[in-house]
Order: sequence, then C-alpha cells, then structure tokens
Amino acid sequence: MAKNIQAIRGMHDILPDQSPLWQFLEDRVREVLDGYGYREIRTPVLEQTDLFKRSIGEVTDIVEKEMYTFSDRNGDSLTLRPECTAGCVRAGIEHGLFHNQIQRIWYRGAMFRHERPQKGRYRQFHQIGAEAFGLAGPDIDLEMILIPRRFWAALGLTGLELQVNTLGTSQERAIYRHELVAYLSQHEGELDDESRHRLQTNPLRILDSKNPEMKAVIEGAPVLLDSLGGESRAHFEALREGLDAAGVSYVVNPRLVRGLDYYARTVFEWVTNRLGAQGTVCAGGRYDGLVEQLGGRPTPAVGFAMGVERLISLLEERLSELQLASPHAYIVLMGDEAQAKGPVLAERLRDELPGLRLISHCGGGSFKSQFKKADRSGAHYALVLGDDELAKGVVSVKSLRTADEQQEYDQQALIGFLRSRL
Ligand code: ATP
Ligand code: MG
Repeated sequence: MAKNIQAIRGMHDILPDQSPLWQFLEDRVREVLDGYGYREIRTPVLEQTDLFKRSIGEVTDIVEKEMYTFSDRNGDSLTLRPECTAGCVRAGIEHGLFHNQIQRIWYRGAMFRHERPQKGRYRQFHQIGAEAFGLAGPDIDLEMILIPRRFWAALGLTGLELQVNTLGTSQERAIYRHELVAYLSQHEGELDDESRHRLQTNPLRILDSKNPEMKAVIEGAPVLLDSLGGESRAHFEALREGLDAAGVSYVVNPRLVRGLDYYARTVFEWVTNRLGAQGTVCAGGRYDGLVEQLGGRPTPAVGFAMGVERLISLLEERLSELQLASPHAYIVLMGDEAQAKGPVLAERLRDELPGLRLISHCGGGSFKSQFKKADRSGAHYALVLGDDELAKGVVSVKSLRTADEQQEYDQQALIGFLRSRL
C-alpha cells in the first residue's frame, strides 16, 4: 500500500479546534490596528529572489541559509517570502504609495524559512506586522511600541517585557564596527566557527549569537551606544521619554541588534520567558535606508512583526476560558416531514438572527444519536422538530448544558428566545 502523504516538516495544519484562537487573535489585532489608522496590504507569497537579497542583506541567516528559493518554469529565481517588510516596500514603490505621503499599513500571512523546526520555530509560520512610511521622528517609533502593548491588553496577555536599543546611523555603525572587530579579533580564540566567519562579513551579528559559550565574550564587547552622535542620542532619548510618559516599562538591551541588516536607530523586541529559547513574540525597528536601497525615493520607515504561533502558544492556556465560538443551537430532526421542514426553519432563524451559530443535523439517525452529536458539537440548546412538534406547530428547546425543563415555542417565540441568548 502506498505511504500516506504527510505535511512538510516544520509546516503545520491549523485544525478546526485551534482556529478559534487564531480568529480571536486576528480579530483583536485588527481592531487595534484600525484604531490607530493602519490599513491592510496583501502582497504575494512569492517574490523575486533579488528583493530579499537586496533588502535583508546577503550575509544574514535568512539569505544565507533559510530561504526557499527555486527557479520557476521560465528560469526566474523566485523565493517564498521569509518576511513581509521587503514585499511592503516593493509594493509601495511599485504603486507610488510613498510619494510625499504618509502610509500606515499592516499585513498578515504565512512566511517561510528553512530553519531547524522546534517549538516556536517552524518552516511555515505566520506573522502580523505593521509599517509606517514617511515619518522620521521618535513619535512614530513610540506608536510602533504602543500598538503591540495594546494588543497584549486586548488579548489578555501579561508578563511581556519590552527591550529597546538603538543602532545609530550606518555611519555610526561603521565606526563602531571597527571597535568591535578590534575587540573580537583580540578574542578570536573564544569565537565559535560561525562568529569567526561573521567577523569577516557581518561582525555586529555576532552580538546576536545564541550560542551560550559566546556569552562572556559578547558581554565584554564595546557598546554601540557609546559611539553614537548627538542626533541619534537625541532620537533615542526622546523615545525613552515617550515610553516613560506613556507608562511603558522597558529595559535597554545594548546587545539587541536584530537579525536583519536594514535596521537603523530604534530597535525593539517584546519577549516572554514562558516560551523557552524562542521568547521573542514581536520584533521591530526603524529602517530608514531600505526604500531608497530598493530604488524608491529616500523615505524613513519603521515597523514591527509578530510571530503568531508564539502568541498562540501563550494564548493556549486560555482556550477553555475563552469559550470561543461554540454553537448556540443544534437542530434535531425526527421523521421525513421534519427532515423536509428543518432546513426551512433553520434558514428562517439565520435570516432573523444575525450572529446566530446554528448547526442543522444532516444524515438522519436515531433520536439518541442525534442528541449525542448535538452534545458533542458544544451547542447550548437542542432545537427538536419531530412529529409531535409539527402537529402542534412548535419547536421543543432542550438545554444541553443545564438541567432546565424542556420548553415548547412557536416559531416567533423561538426567535425571541434565541435572540435573548445571543
Ligand atoms: P530569531 O532570532 O528568533 O530567529 P528573527 O530575528 O529571525 O528571530 P524576525 O525576522 O524579526 O525574527 O521575525 C519577527 C518575529 O517572527 C520573531 O520575533 C518571531 O516571533 C517570529 N518568527 C521568526 N522566525 C520564526 C520561525 N521560524 N517560526 C516561528 N516564528 C518565527
Ligand atoms: Mg531567525
């Protein structure tokens, strides 16, 4: 017998039991973003490979080893998007969205990275992110931090810590890079293979190493904050004042460099200690050079992206408490006439009661088996239509969750009853 085909390693089905949590999260997040005037953009999951090489940077984990890249039938090199900022910038340039305009946009969707699958790290995963284009000041950086804070409140998530840092401008980073390379070269014996390679290509990324054996040497490294000029310092200071005024607690983490090349000045992460090593649930920062780098006019920009699977893990503890989307009612139908009239009744109820979640029994079967299915559906009430009910012109309503007596209602009264339960 042929072996069953399974999903690709690191890529997961989101099953119907789980999707209420996803919908809860997506709905709350969308409401918050609406409240800040952000509008959704949907870009293709496939882009030209060069888009990511030119934006994310050639010597990053993503471009060096994580992209799903292939030639299509015309021989063009395409890549499944590993993130969506590059796509947003590409679309913005292509459609002239940035030309003397302020754009606040957000996106959601699947991203693809060929990483080693583990809890909180998958090969297909989902991000929700926001980007603001055309604003250079620390005020919009602050907004980019306040929005996620409002997500946590809307989702009932607590215990997330905000870490912030500044990377300065590319000139300031170049100066710092010299100092860092000088320091790390003195400690070359303590570097792991990857870091020794990075020392030649992208030394700042060594600060981002997740190898615990590198911890000591990283802790002794010079700090980028000390190489900053006046403007970058003032920008960071203003952001910190804004955070204080808004009552946001945070820590300055001078080792926070972020995985992507395109960041400048403000970077931040929201982290939890409840997910082990994969503790960052939201990461973002300013990337003023990217639009120009991809062929647009100079346009300041800032954004963040959240890992939805990690947030879902945090929310999972609350699945039963949230009691999401169980049906209000389940129609049980006994006899041929009821079988015929049931769908008509069900459609009338749906017409009259927007928001009603009603399952119509299909497939016949005994009273007992229909009740069993009604119970298993999680519905609050069984609406019974049988010969007796048809003769009397009523529907019997039986609570499946309480010991309340069965009641009979005519259709109008049934609508009233259900309305009071919505
Ligand atoms: P990490 O250092 O954990 O690899 P990153 O710097 O590569 O993270 P970003 O590119 O900034 O991550 O992505 C933003 C967020 O998307 C991350 O903070 C995380 O929550 C989520 N994320 C990134 N990669 C994955 C993945 N492979 N599986 C699940 N979530 C991910
Ligand atoms: Mg990564």
